[in-house]
Amino acid sequence: MAKKSGGNRIQFYAAKMNEEMLYRLEMEGYLRKALEKQELFLCYQPIIDIHTGAIIGNEALIRWRHPQLGLVRPGEFIPLAEETGLIHDIGRWVLMTACKQTKEWQQLGNEHLSVFVNVSAMQFQHEQFIDDVKEALRQSQLSPHCLHLELTENSMLRHLSNSIQVMNELKQLGVGIAVDDFGSGYASFSYLKRLPATTLKIDRSFIEQLHTNQSDTAIVKAIITMGHGLGLKTIAEGVETVEQLELLKMLHCRYAQGYVLYPPLAAEELVGYMAARKK
Ligand code: C2E
Ligand code: MG
Ligand code: MG
Ligand code: MG
Repeated sequence: MAKKSGGNRIQFYAAKMNEEMLYRLEMEGYLRKALEKQELFLCYQPIIDIHTGAIIGNEALIRWRHPQLGLVRPGEFIPLAEETGLIHDIGRWVLMTACKQTKEWQQLGNEHLSVFVNVSAMQFQHEQFIDDVKEALRQSQLSPHCLHLELTENSMLRHLSNSIQVMNELKQLGVGIAVDDFGSGYASFSYLKRLPATTLKIDRSFIEQLHTNQSDTAIVKAIITMGHGLGLKTIAEGVETVEQLELLKMLHCRYAQGYVLYPPLAAEELVGYMAARKK
């Protein structure tokens, strides 16, 4: 009896695994076609100067609209793109699209507008990556000083010596490097000293309870002070309330991003906001 139900259980797991594998294969097939079918697009979330409220740049955030699956968030397909190697084509497309779009907005009168592009570890470690960045800058004619690449601490720490070399090359080009989700990974101070980053993006988890949790306030304050000391810009991520924004201002954090300011917006929507701010 017991044996039988055990067997059933195994069959059940096998069926479930099969189902998951099929789903994965199906997703992979869909994702392979997503680029050519133009199902991928970018949303842009403004980053503001807390003191002036001005939009200094936008973070490009990828979206996938599939006819059957609907809107798929990056958390669901970026890992798959990494596993299958599709991340290289997708990442190249993101870089090119974000640079061209930003150049267009600059030509509409937002001269110093920056763009922040997320780069995954695999993409960053690929030998062709620097050439991809150069090509995006060349084709878009965007100034390298207006491009910032976002990498998490953990992506930077993977193959550390190679990361440092690539980051130095990017820095020489004039491209900025932001540590995404700063504080949530494993970078120690000694790494931070060696990594040629230009910006720290303070992880949302420290901002969430900023006004109620004293430890979070202390941590955020320390990150901002350290950032200033190291000559790095600090951007607070995931700012959702006016109280958080006020506190960040008091702590001398210069830049912020989050739902209380702007959500990720479609390119057409953002144009309206940037134009409205000028009036
Ligand atoms: P991330 O780079 O840390 O991006 C911030 C995420 O927080 C975004 O989620 C954004 O929509 C969300 N967010 C913004 N403001 C708020 C807020 O006030 N509250 C809360 N709760 N969330 C906020 P999204 O767009 O789903 O992206 C998730 C992650 O996917 C990104 O995290 C990034 O790691 C990755 N990703 C997005 N676009 C790309 C891309 O083009 N390439 C690669 N390699 N990764 C990407
Ligand atoms: Mg990011
Ligand atoms: Mg982040
Ligand atoms: Mg993140």
